[in-house]
Amino acid sequence: MIPKARRYKLFKKDYCENVDGRLGFHCTTTIEHSCMLTVDHKDGNKENNDPENLTTYCACCHNYKTVVFGDHRNIAFRNKATPLPVEDTQYTPEQ
Ligand SMILES: [Zn+2]
Repeated sequence: MIPKARRYKLFKKDYCENVDGRLGFHCTTTIEHSCMLTVDHKDGNKENNDPENLTTYCACCHNYKTVVFGDHRNIAFRNKATPLPVEDTQYTPEQ
C-alpha cells in the first residue's frame, strides 16, 4: 500500500501537462523516463492529493513554475498564479 503522503504518485501522468502551454509556453521536453516528471500540488498543500489539485510537470517546467509563479513564497501569492516581474526572477550571484 502506498503511504498517504505519496498517493499523488497514483495520479502522475506520463507526460508534462505544460504541452498545452498552461505556463505561457509549450513544453517540448522529451520524456525518456518517469523520473523526469514531477507532480505539482496546485494549492501548495502536499497532503492534498485530490486529482484536481495535481499537475504533472517535467523537472524544467516545474522549476520554471516554482520561480516565475512564486511558488516558493507563500500560498496566497501562489494561488493568484500571477507571474513575478522578470527582475524578481533573475539570479544575482553573490559578490
Ligand atoms: Zn515540461
